[in-house]
Amino acid sequence: MKSPLDRRRFLASAAAASAATTAIVSEAHAEGGAPALLGGTPIRREPFPAWPRADRLEEDGLLGVLRSGKWFRGGGDRVDRFEKAYAGMTGAAHCVAVANGTSALVTSLAALGIGPGDEVIIPAYTFIATVNSVLLHYAMPVFVDTDPETFQIDAQKIEAAITDRTAAIMPVHLGGNVADLDAIMEIGRRRKLPIIEDACQAHLAEWRGKKVGTIGSTGCFSFQVSKNLSSGEGGAILSGDAELAGRCYAFQNNCRGRAMEGYRFTYEGGRGANLRMTEFQGSLLLAQMTRLEAQSRTREENARYLTGLLAEIPGIIPARQYEGCTRNAYHLYMFRYHDEAFGGLGRDKFLRAMQAEGIPCSGGYSPLNKDASVVAAIASKGFGRIYPKGEIEGFAARNACPANDALCGEAVWLTQNMLLGPRSDMDQIAAAVRKVRAGAGALAKA
Ligand SMILES: *Cc1c(COP(=O)(O)O)cnc(C)c1O
Repeated sequence: MKSPLDRRRFLASAAAASAATTAIVSEAHAEGGAPALLGGTPIRREPFPAWPRADRLEEDGLLGVLRSGKWFRGGGDRVDRFEKAYAGMTGAAHCVAVANGTSALVTSLAALGIGPGDEVIIPAYTFIATVNSVLLHYAMPVFVDTDPETFQIDAQKIEAAITDRTAAIMPVHLGGNVADLDAIMEIGRRRKLPIIEDACQAHLAEWRGKKVGTIGSTGCFSFQVSKNLSSGEGGAILSGDAELAGRCYAFQNNCRGRAMEGYRFTYEGGRGANLRMTEFQGSLLLAQMTRLEAQSRTREENARYLTGLLAEIPGIIPARQYEGCTRNAYHLYMFRYHDEAFGGLGRDKFLRAMQAEGIPCSGGYSPLNKDASVVAAIASKGFGRIYPKGEIEGFAARNACPANDALCGEAVWLTQNMLLGPRSDMDQIAAAVRKVRAGAGALAKA
């Protein structure tokens, strides 16, 4: 081994050779062997790569903050440095760090002056924080149905949801894939509506070569522990608009602006909160950012390879990307499961059978437009004081999302950390799907 690179190549090819063996053994097993759910031998026993990851870099950074006594961003420099570094990494003109992703969305809406009586268009297929940020402002969420091929908001259905009360469109780049930003930005320009990108799952994802979060009026990120860039909790807002970024800064700092050039604005809405990021979070993010690009590349390579394997299996339809998506962050690896190709096994039994084979997976979101807490919020006293009775009673009918309802019953998710290991892990995932399909008859009866 002349250089570390040769050594790495050798290790990679050794891993590939052993993966090929594993795949062949697994295939042979699939033909004769029983599904693990019925007592057979699982395809895999080792855990997938652990998440989050940290080493001395994080330890030294955190201890540095601890010992400095400068735990709050007013005293230290970590959060300021993080904001500059994240803006640099994404190509954004401005970055405002906040306590978490929900705060990034709440702050963006506040800075755009959105409040009671306003409507905000959001996808039905997203994490509950997207809708909570709207409800917290007593604005009315308007759900738009999902494009099941991409798992993203169906941009063709946005126009029909716009009324004279629409104040913003908040697309989500779900799973690290990218919503159809050409169509959404065009609607925003034509209807004079700000676009708030919920990029909480899409760090380093790109649309036509530009980082997501830098295309709309603001872009919101989460650094919660499950996310591809993490500080346990954390968030950030990107914007190309200095005045809007200044209002965001002021809102998350109790209505007080940054005493720096370009940020002399205060939040004119007259309300604010303390949603500041701590120096500990800033320090963790500076360390974690040194790993983000390499991890993102590994996820992309593994995901592309896995898509090739899964696309061969009848009844498995990996999420497609729009043509403008030039980089997918793969926060989730998402595919649809079609029951007919699995002999009526049922999606939930498919998930259990996969888990028994040693492949953790889940069925993802349930319909957010029908979520009990959303329904309760719309029926609450506060909403009743703001919105006419007919509007509240018509909420379910107005927000029906039939394609999303169907998708929620077909979706299968793998988490981003499962894409961080060797390519042979992808072979095992695909082998488990093939094995469950081969055993579907027996599984369906059990
Ligand atoms: C995680 C997430 C959020 C909220 O971020 P937190 O940091 O958990 O507050 C918002 N939207 C989406 C799509 C998310 O995945």
